[in-house]
Amino acid sequence: MPGLLDVLAIAAHRDDVEQTCGGTLLVQQSLGWKTGILDLTRGESGTRGTAAEREAEANAAAAILKTTHREALNLPDGSLQNNLENRLSVAAVLRRLRPRVVILPYWTGRHPDHYTASTLGYEACFAAGLAKLDLPGAPHRPYKILYASLYADVRPTFVVDITPHIETRLQALLAYRSQYGNQSQGAGLFVPEEDIRERTFASARHYGMLAGVRYAEPFVQKEVALAEDLMLLPAASI
Ligand SMILES: [Zn+2]
Repeated sequence: MPGLLDVLAIAAHRDDVEQTCGGTLLVQQSLGWKTGILDLTRGESGTRGTAAEREAEANAAAAILKTTHREALNLPDGSLQNNLENRLSVAAVLRRLRPRVVILPYWTGRHPDHYTASTLGYEACFAAGLAKLDLPGAPHRPYKILYASLYADVRPTFVVDITPHIETRLQALLAYRSQYGNQSQGAGLFVPEEDIRERTFASARHYGMLAGVRYAEPFVQKEVALAEDLMLLPAASI
């Protein structure tokens, strides 16, 4: 059965995907693949902005990222749990959208919602493929699970060259005006808009340099990379 989506990025909070793999979604879309985003929470616990404001911002960002689909579950923001009920909720979305590639957050980190989203997402991918699971839709297990590691202090197993899309990726982030506007409320917690550009470009430049391109986003995959032809391996060594 063909999927509604080719690549689905799952994250805890609205704007996590924009920060960690928005450029990669733009790359995949430009290659002709259908991309989508599943936000596990709606941001009701955020210091700034209501859930409704953040939904409008998320939809604006999704349009900038040219995604085919974006939806949010209503799991509790700030206390995300990896339990059976939540795994079934995510698995139901996976059965409906049937992505070949799923991008999850890296499995360790500072924010509990981020690492919980990682294990919750992985276990939902497994559950979605179980034939006897009491859940609507045909069983479906994504072929590839990747971990967006930009928040994590780990060496990526590969990076995606996002150089042609770096400005668009920044615009998607800036769509979250309630988070990045220059406001007094929560000023110590939030990055002012002028710093977002520098932070975004510096991080992307760092990961780009690791592979000899200008701007890139980092990923970890648990599988060892498979080479078909040594002559076609990218990234110069010396
Ligand atoms: Zn987050």
